[in-house]
This record gives sequence, structure tokens and C-alpha cells, in this order.
Amino acid sequence: MDPKTVIFLLSLNLISIGGLLILIGRRMPEPAGLRGFATGALVFGCAYLLRLALGYTSSAALTVVADAGMVFSTLCFASGMLQFSGRPPIRSAVLAACVGSYAALASAAIVAWPEGGRHVAINLFLGGAYIGLGALALAGARRETRTLATPMRVLALLVGVLGLATFARGVGVLTGGAEFLYSGLASQAYYAYGAVVTVMLGPNLLWMVFVRLNDRLALLATRDPLTQLLNRNGLDEVVQRHFGARPLRPLVLMQVDVDHFKRVNDSHGHAVGDAVLRAVADTLASHVRGGDFIARLGGEEFLVGCVGADIAQARQLAERLRLAVSGCRHALADGGTVACTVSIGVSGVLIDRAGWEAALRQADRALYAAKAAGRDRVETAPAEASEPGPNP
Ligand code: GH3
Ligand code: MG
Ligand code: MG
Repeated sequence: MDPKTVIFLLSLNLISIGGLLILIGRRMPEPAGLRGFATGALVFGCAYLLRLALGYTSSAALTVVADAGMVFSTLCFASGMLQFSGRPPIRSAVLAACVGSYAALASAAIVAWPEGGRHVAINLFLGGAYIGLGALALAGARRETRTLATPMRVLALLVGVLGLATFARGVGVLTGGAEFLYSGLASQAYYAYGAVVTVMLGPNLLWMVFVRLNDRLALLATRDPLTQLLNRNGLDEVVQRHFGARPLRPLVLMQVDVDHFKRVNDSHGHAVGDAVLRAVADTLASHVRGGDFIARLGGEEFLVGCVGADIAQARQLAERLRLAVSGCRHALADGGTVACTVSIGVSGVLIDRAGWEAALRQADRALYAAKAAGRDRVETAPAEASEPGPNP
């Protein structure tokens, strides 16, 4: 296959990837960065087609437009990578300034050195941009899980090496002229590697986007949207994992219920009620120990799983949670504050899956006893309730 056909196919490949990413972004909750990747792929593919149409060795002024398109699309990829890693994207004004500066410098270089100026400009700029994109992917991978870090590192390696080779070509033209760019073994190796990067870029980006979307959907399915604590699905998964692990560690359950919460809603409105619920959830979450789990069972009721604890330790933790919540003050728009307390029921020690329902009932009864005894207190399931009868 001749090089022009290869470049044509690679351009179509990039344009299809861009289109596919746009379609994915439209149909699903868009992961940050998708638009940057899609624009980058589309513009790069179009810029390649334009260069092909103009003749690959041409130095006509329009080639500056095609080259600026490549610089722009690489910056779009970089902007997408920043967003993908949870950082702000490159601002439009900065993008425009970079592309404008490139166009001005490349034009000046072509005027100053018609045979080689353009090659120096595009190879140095694009090489630098690829290296920057690789560095961003590498830095982003450090904060991700292994499933997501792997494709990000692959991307960093692919574009990082391409960046070094591209930059070296720019330096090569500066020092030895532009003849070697389109002939010889090094040039063939460069284009072959460029083709490999272009082909691998699409599946790699799609895998990254897929993993991110999957993580997001898993989060939506297992977390309560108001408090970000585990919902019942998430709780089921955690409990399943806990009882599947060996050696099996003992577990104490605590049922936590906000006292007179209806009054908060009635006095201050549902929105303040929601804010108070979030604050209570944050307080509970920040005071449980690493390895414990916490779920919102519904309304103003929470369940804490105290892993590896005996009753005395669980009781101590429950007291800490109670005090932490009662010490919180939630600011109101009118300058006032609202406070609340919780009652907590602590189950007996649970040692296997079969005891789960009984332990829940124990915690529930203990909670009921805490409410009956005046609220804002911790009650433990009485010893004789360790093996309760059928649910009343
Ligand atoms: P007790 O001390 O006996 O637990 O009294 P309580 O008022 O906390 O209990 P009750 O069950 O009477 O009321 C619970 C209230 O919680 C009623 C309901 O409107 C409110 N609630 C449940 N879910 C939410 C929510 O997501 N947001 C808000 N703002 N309120 C909620
Ligand atoms: Mg309540
Ligand atoms: Mg309740």
C-alpha cells in the first residue's frame, strides 16, 4: 500500500474515533474529557486529509492551516486528558493563543527558510505537544485505579515516544536540512510508528472512557445520591464480600437514627433537612474506622458495620459518633444554626452470615430502646436478645 493510502485510512480512522466518542458522549452520562478527545481526533483526521490534499511536501500557506489544526487537536487531547484527570481544561483563550502563536511562528519560519522552516516549526511544536500530552497521561495515571492507570500509561508511552521522535526530527532539520524527512530507514520507521500510534489511540481512548463510565455507573448503583454513603445495593455487595473473606472477622452492627428529624424539615424546610442529613452522613463517615462500612438504609437511618470489634469497642465508637453529631452546628441562610442528635442501637457480635438478620433485629431493638429512654443515647442489645425469636 502506498503511503498516501495509509495516511488516508489513518485519517478516516481518527475521524471515526472522534464521531464514535461524540455518539458515546450523547447517549451516556459524559465522562469529563470526552469532548476534548472527540474534537482532537476529528480535527487531527481532517488536518491529515487537508495535508494529503495539498501534497505532503508542499509548503503552501494552506499547509500552515493544516499544521495548526494538528497543533490545535493535540492541545484538545491534552485538555481532555486534564479533564479526564479531574482538573480544569485548557481555556479557549489559551488554546487560541497557542494555535495563533504557532501559525505566526510557522509563517515566519517559512518566509525565513522556505525549504525547511515549516518542518522545523511543526516537528518542534507537535513533538513538544505530544511529550506534554504523554506527561499529563502519566501524571493522571498515578491517581487512578490499576484498571484505568494501565491504558493511561500505554497512551503516555505511545505519544511520549512519538513526541521525542517528532521533536528529534525538528532538531534534525535544523541541523542537517529537510532531505531525510521523507526518505531513508529512519523516516520509514517514524511513519510506521506514527501509524501504530494512530491505530492504537482509538481502542486505548475507548477503553479509558469505558472504564470511567463503568466506574461511574457502579458508583450510581451502589451509592446513595444525597449522602454518597452506600445504598442497599452497595451494602449487599460489602456484606457479601465481608462474609466471603477468610479468615472471617467478627462484626457488630449499629443502627443510627436522627432524633426528631421531622422537626428539622417542618421548621426549616426540606432543603435544610437534606443539608443536615448530608452533614450527619459526613460526620459519621469521618469518624468510623478504616475497614468499617456505613450505609444509608433510607430516610434518616444509617447502618454502621464495625468490623473486627467486640461489644466494648463498638460501644465506644457509637459514643464517639453520637458526640460528634451532637457537637455539629449546621449554618442556616438567616445566620442561625440548627443542631441535631442521633440515637444508636448496637447489636451483639456477629460471626457468620446466618446471624445477619438477627443482628439487624438486635440493633433495631436497641435503637428502639434508646429512643424510648429519651434519645441522644447509645443502647446495646441485651445479652438474652442474642438469639431472638421470629421477627415481631
Ligand atoms: P424519631 O426521633 O422518633 O426518629 O423522630 P423522627 O422525626 O426523626 O422520625 P420520623 O420517622 O417521624 O420522621 C422522619 C422524617 O425524615 C420524615 C421524613 O420526611 C424525613 N425524611 C426522610 N427522608 C428524607 C430526605 O431524604 N430528606 C429530608 N429532608 N427528609 C427526609
Ligand atoms: Mg428519626
Ligand atoms: Mg427513622
